[in-house]
Amino acid sequence: MSEVLKTLILGSGPAGYTAAIYAARANLQPVLLAGRQPGGQLTITSDVENYPGFPDGVMGPQMMEMFQKQAERFGTKVLHEHAEKVDLRKRPFTVVTDADRTYRCQTLIISTGASALYLGLPNERALQGKGVSACATCDGFFFKNKVVYVVGGGDSACEEASFLTKFAAKVHLLVRRDQMRASKIMQKRVLDNPKIEVVWNTSVTDVFDAGAGKVTGLELVDTRSGARRRVPADGLFLAIGHKPNTELFAGQLPMDEKGYLKTTPGRTATEIPGVFACGDVQDSYYRQAITAAGTGCMAAIEAERWLEAQH
Ligand code: NDP
Repeated sequence: MSEVLKTLILGSGPAGYTAAIYAARANLQPVLLAGRQPGGQLTITSDVENYPGFPDGVMGPQMMEMFQKQAERFGTKVLHEHAEKVDLRKRPFTVVTDADRTYRCQTLIISTGASALYLGLPNERALQGKGVSACATCDGFFFKNKVVYVVGGGDSACEEASFLTKFAAKVHLLVRRDQMRASKIMQKRVLDNPKIEVVWNTSVTDVFDAGAGKVTGLELVDTRSGARRRVPADGLFLAIGHKPNTELFAGQLPMDEKGYLKTTPGRTATEIPGVFACGDVQDSYYRQAITAAGTGCMAAIEAERWLEAQH
């Protein structure tokens, strides 16, 4: 493409589409590259009940279709391509995709998101949304009076385990070592909660559905002795960390020690003028659809103002 775009957006989660809605309405004629997981992480959750404006909840994939429609209504061009290479060293910036196309742009909005880490168990992916989840805030509500297991020993695992006690009858927290990585206060909250049982030195080696189409049990392993046992379970929540999708920008944009893109505090501007980052790719703390959408809006407004200042 020889034309230089005013705004190119990478990623199609709530941040990317919200940036697109605002950029399109500001007449920046944005092009959005949807990436390998069109719709982002919300497409792997079921009901979304905490996004304001949907009093009866909405299915994650359906919500993302609505985001896309709204972005396209104002002229966003959504392309099903995945960015494979970027060059941010000179303007216009260039992006090469898996369709072997090269895009040049004056401003780049990065909303490539983050991916929850999974254990890699044989049935894990097949049972996603059917008892296996990496987001208690999204899916906890569906486990009223159920028995659930949370994997992890960090702050996220403690937070998710505590949150799940609002619904579940019993929450088991599987910690692979004899200590947790979580902050003391989060650990205390978990240890003091009568609904949570911490199972030390234990990992999961399998999750199964016994033909029921949803999780019915787990195989656990004692990480010291290697002894395995099977337990009945309705849910398996993974809280072993997230990985921001930032490999593409290595060596070009500053990142924190976990690989999240750094932005000016309270803004979406990166160190490179004209490059903005929004959503989970720069947020390891909130990681919610509504906060991602909020920063997407910020990125588009900042891009528009930055372009204006160039003239
Ligand atoms: P962390 O990387 O801090 O913790 C990951 C946990 O998962 C560790 O206990 C780790 O075990 C365990 N783990 C990793 N891989 C496996 C595996 N294959 N099998 C079993 N267990 C595994 O990630 P978090 O998402 O918890 O936190 C990320 C950041 O966000 C942290 O800085 C945290 O402080 C912050 N955060 C803060 C919150 C708050 O303040 N309210 C809430 C949530 C997160 P091991 O220790 O053995 O490596």
